[in-house]
Amino acid sequence: MTNGQLFDHIKNTLKNAGKEDADFDAKCIFEDIVGLDMLNLALHRSDEADGVKAENAMKLAEKRAEGYPLQYLLGKWEFYGLNFKVGEGVLIPRPDTETLVDTVVNHFAAKKFYDPQIIDLCSGTGCIAVSLQKTMPKSKLIAVELSSDAMPYLVENIRSNNADVKILKGDVMDGRLLDNFKDEESEGDYRQLDCIVSNPPYLTAEEMSDLQTEVTFEPASALDGGNDGLKFYRVISCLWKEILKDGGLLAFEIGYRQGEDVAEILRKGGYTDVKIIKDLGGNDRVVTGIKQG
Ligand code: GLN
Repeated sequence: MTNGQLFDHIKNTLKNAGKEDADFDAKCIFEDIVGLDMLNLALHRSDEADGVKAENAMKLAEKRAEGYPLQYLLGKWEFYGLNFKVGEGVLIPRPDTETLVDTVVNHFAAKKFYDPQIIDLCSGTGCIAVSLQKTMPKSKLIAVELSSDAMPYLVENIRSNNADVKILKGDVMDGRLLDNFKDEESEGDYRQLDCIVSNPPYLTAEEMSDLQTEVTFEPASALDGGNDGLKFYRVISCLWKEILKDGGLLAFEIGYRQGEDVAEILRKGGYTDVKIIKDLGGNDRVVTGIKQG
């Protein structure tokens, strides 16, 4: 089989399965496994393809045709211009989430505040924490994650990106985790940070029962936000407020229909200057608030 025939076979496998992004996915699989980019494919179309690689690439194409996420097949994905290791057990970084990172970066840039201390709750791959830390090199980040399946990805992504991010393993819904921030000297008081950022699970029960095939391969624990999808917003905005400075920023990613509900949770919870921010697709995607002093 030639390189050209192999590429066409991959593409047709995906097209026949009705995959919308068949061309893009075929290109990614081909480049990853065969090691030829599209220019080199054009130059070497009639060369014989390596048998083992061809078989491998065709296997991946079949898995992809069944709806298995491309990102898991490749084992890596780009977010905010950085590379992240991904695989089963961890939520795949979405382009929408870059809006959340932009929002936090812009907030501190406007204040010329270059070394904020930031905590990222429900960190997953660590894409938010690592991107913030690399964009603001003087910032200090803490990444909180509960899942033991996600943990190896978080550890590796911090290491491979050489980011100054500390990991705290635990459940963001459990107030005992805040004991880690108790100040030894002024007993009872919490050490306070400049920003809480989070992309928590936010799908509703209804959405969970009707997931796109690709998403069913992702961990439910990273998606399921309880019946109305708002469980994590209620708890985080209240519980973690203890470790946020007066005037500190709380920034959430939200589902595209949750803007008003989450804004209301923040206003009632004692945050001011509450804003709903849209992603590049024009959907509500981020809600921010400032802890009232
Ligand atoms: N954006 C994800 C999805 O639509 C949900 C991520 C989340 O719950 N934090 O599948």
